[in-house]
Amino acid sequence: GKPRVVVVGGGAGGGTVARYIAKDSDGAIDVTLIEPSQVYFSCFFSNLYIGGLKSIDEIGHTYGALAANYGINVIHDWAVAVDRVDKNVTLAGGQVLPYDKLILSPGIDFIEGSVPGWDLSVQTKMPHAYEAGSQSQLLRAQIENMPEGGVYAMVAPPNPYRCPPGPYERISMVAHVLKATNPTAKIVIADPKPKFSKMALFEDGWATHYPGLIDWIGEDFGGGDVSVDPDQMMLTIDGEEMAVDVCNVIPAMKAGRIAELAGVTDGRWAPVNSADMSSKTDPDVYVLGDACQQGDMPKSGFSANSQAKVCANAVRGSLTGSRIFPPRYANTCWSLIAVNDGVKVGATYEATEEKIARVDGFVSQVGEDANLRKTTYEESENWYAAITADMFH
Ligand code: FAD
Repeated sequence: GKPRVVVVGGGAGGGTVARYIAKDSDGAIDVTLIEPSQVYFSCFFSNLYIGGLKSIDEIGHTYGALAANYGINVIHDWAVAVDRVDKNVTLAGGQVLPYDKLILSPGIDFIEGSVPGWDLSVQTKMPHAYEAGSQSQLLRAQIENMPEGGVYAMVAPPNPYRCPPGPYERISMVAHVLKATNPTAKIVIADPKPKFSKMALFEDGWATHYPGLIDWIGEDFGGGDVSVDPDQMMLTIDGEEMAVDVCNVIPAMKAGRIAELAGVTDGRWAPVNSADMSSKTDPDVYVLGDACQQGDMPKSGFSANSQAKVCANAVRGSLTGSRIFPPRYANTCWSLIAVNDGVKVGATYEATEEKIARVDGFVSQVGEDANLRKTTYEESENWYAAITADMFH
């Protein structure tokens, strides 16, 4: 029969890799995609949804075209076990799927106990909104329901985590809403880091658009020493208790659990080879996106998509003998600070023996004119259309 590829996770990495393998192999490879959700709500642009600038439908995508256009077998279920000796994947529904090549792109899970007082059972009280969809809707509703002059608190995550500028774009979008609807409200960020991605750009933008609204408490000021009490809606920073109205807890992260169950992680992330994204533990298993540990690329949708294209080319080459091109990787992370005030940071990367290594980069500058910032925002709109087409159409 045909060679079989099983992809676990229909997100930025998994959607892209399934589509490229199926599309470019023209039916020569049997591709199955396992994804529990019928609708993928992208984390990218979910902050803009929270800011009221996108609807929930605009960030929701379905899998029908992958089946219709490329014959991908899309199964809506959870992968619950991987047998790397017999080379098969077991689904929650009991089905066992054999593979020649297995590609894991399950995203992230949270590290238990990383924020004392918080666990997944309280995510409806203190949402993370770091997986998009109902969590994003909940957080947005909580912001809308804040009392006049109330407090929005964020517990920011330690490195490395999904989307380095994500928490700070979120703060910008929350500030955008509160400035208009609840101008005496306050935003507090407890951060276990001494600095963060695009910090100068965010701080400058916050001072310009939202003066006096945002209080960032970094590691040097006790921001790393936090606990929460969801019943009392209290946040404790460096021993000081504070009553809060919204508490957005973004815990420390690790690879999605199935990577751990497959036995390809180092306890937190899955180390991969830079040439083709294959696991350092098993040449027939590949790990993409947030779950892998590859070197210098940030954990982003752009990165996952870029890694998926390299992986698709390599997997296809090894199964059908098609030409394998030298790997090339790139990333850009855009963030919106206020309406039409977009900034970006990005880089290109190369595969070295040891890791995916940064070659060259760029970052927006403080003091750029408004037209350039608007153009930067428009680039992000174009990128969003392009990556979601790459994943789903
Ligand atoms: P995901 O896209 O999360 O896909 C993982 C999929 O695997 C999920 O659909 C999940 O349901 C599925 N899955 C998990 N476990 C199993 C299992 N056992 N069986 C079957 N399926 C499973 N990135 C950017 O590039 N640009 C941005 O502007 C940007 N903004 C962001 C803003 C926020 C607020 C956040 C949180 C993230 C943002 N990101 C952004 C980061 C981006 O969302 C992630 O880096 C990207 O989605 C990673 O892709 P992935 O394939 O690793 O995981």
